[in-house]
Amino acid sequence: MAKKQKPTLATVWLDGCSGCHMSFLDIDEALIALAEKATLVYSPLVDAKEFPKMVDVTLIEGAVSTDEDVAKLRKVRSHTKILVALGDCAVTGNVPSMRNPFTVAEVTERAYIENATHNQQVPDLTLPKLLPKVRPVHAWVDVDVFIPGCPPSARTILYVLTELVEGRMPDLSDKSRFG
Ligand code: SF4
Repeated sequence: MAKKQKPTLATVWLDGCSGCHMSFLDIDEALIALAEKATLVYSPLVDAKEFPKMVDVTLIEGAVSTDEDVAKLRKVRSHTKILVALGDCAVTGNVPSMRNPFTVAEVTERAYIENATHNQQVPDLTLPKLLPKVRPVHAWVDVDVFIPGCPPSARTILYVLTELVEGRMPDLSDKSRFG
């Protein structure tokens, strides 16, 4: 009899500090048990260049800040069955959205001219284009599961992934909080 294929997992890093990915890694030895139930097919943690044709569960860390983020997010959404907004930046915009009261010109001027001691210039040829406002993931695409927290605890991430790979929808009502 053919062996049943394990569900696939992916993680994607948009505008975040990587703290949510670090919390994912903090699952520690439970990662081994998780690896027996699911296969990590795409992530900053593995050497995969192209997002696969279809992934069962994708975690998104970070807010949507650039045109590149939007393109990546739309591609991931169309190739993912269950999309999870991981952490406050993905869920609300959180830290990256602190630039929203300012224009893009003001932000870039501050970062590359006023705060630079050498070579003051905006590197417009090499940077993705900043959007006028930072938005959470659900402002651009449908999200199936929201995990608040900055970062969410490893225990909460493990709970969500375990439920999803076993075919259940996680109930986070008493397991997570913002901040
Ligand atoms: Fe970093 Fe917090 Fe944003 Fe996660 S939610 S990417 S830990 S700032």
